[in-house]
Amino acid sequence: MSDDRRIPAGEVAAWLRDFAGAVAEAKDELTRLDSAIGDADHGINMDRGMRAVVDKLDAEEPGDVPGLMRAVGMALISKVGGAGGPLYGTFFLQFGSAAGAAPLTPEGWVDCFEAGVDGVRSRGKAEPDDKTMVDALLPAVAAMRAALADGASFPEVLARGADGAEEGARATIPLVARKGRASYLGERSAGHQDPGATSSALLVRCAARTWATEIDGSE
Ligand code: ADP
Ligand code: MG
Repeated sequence: MSDDRRIPAGEVAAWLRDFAGAVAEAKDELTRLDSAIGDADHGINMDRGMRAVVDKLDAEEPGDVPGLMRAVGMALISKVGGAGGPLYGTFFLQFGSAAGAAPLTPEGWVDCFEAGVDGVRSRGKAEPDDKTMVDALLPAVAAMRAALADGASFPEVLARGADGAEEGARATIPLVARKGRASYLGERSAGHQDPGATSSALLVRCAARTWATEIDGSE
């Protein structure tokens, strides 16, 4: 697949709506995870933020992906207290910026996703194994890059990314947190799955669900 079209905003909006629904469904579980190693608000924060995102999507035509993601990122940054909102906001802003130049190809989409992850890393300064959302996002990137190298279809690339993210989220269980609120617990943070890594794995699973068929510029 090679042409000079960009990722369609309508498909990105569908991904965000699916994520909002998944977050609403997982709200109690995310908050339960955060009650073990944080302040019991990650589900509440993410649900509030993604509701604001859906309100934005309902109110405005999606336009192009950079514009859409700017609105989405700003909604999350302004509506969500705590670490998670601004980090997700940064992810979407950076995804959107990269989408301004990325071609409508599986590689182009993964480049945008990785730009989002780079944004989270530079904003939050988390390293791998610090027990944060980065521990789901980086394995997702690695799994998607490996799938691309294998010549996998776009749905397969995303499905492998989602598997990688979920595995990464589960692998946070034994880790001792070194960033964010959970790090205040020191060794006592071990034995619990990180809430942000859990919501990030949902984000990738939702992408795999949204693009269960090829990325498609025909809208
Ligand atoms: P808060 O910790 O302020 O209450 P949330 O509960 O919404 O915010 O989000 C907590 C999640 O944010 C953590 O589970 C972790 O994944 C993520 N997080 C916290 N600090 C960082 C950081 N510096 N870099 C990346 N992710 C982080
Ligand atoms: Mg919290």
